[in-house]
Amino acid sequence: MTDTQKQEILSLKSKGSSYRKIAVLLSLPENTVKSFLRREHKQSDKAGVCRNCNKKLELIPKHRAKIFCCDNCRITYWRKMKKRCGVNEAISKAV
Ligand SMILES: [Zn+2]
Repeated sequence: MTDTQKQEILSLKSKGSSYRKIAVLLSLPENTVKSFLRREHKQSDKAGVCRNCNKKLELIPKHRAKIFCCDNCRITYWRKMKKRCGVNEAISKAV
């Protein structure tokens, strides 16, 4: 896959095209498109996006990657998780 193709995949995906449509447009196997986007998704996870509001996080070198943009988001997120998985002692203490 060329860099141009990768760019195309990302831009088509952001416009809401399906895997199949992207694959046809770029004449790539659908599975290639799928696995590329899955990999890309994992990487952007690592790059740091607030888990609560999806805002991009600033990365500070030599610091542990943040997963929330602010305390508010952290608390909101864990409250949501708590509701979803029932009361979790460890989490309620952490907040
Ligand atoms: Zn946030």
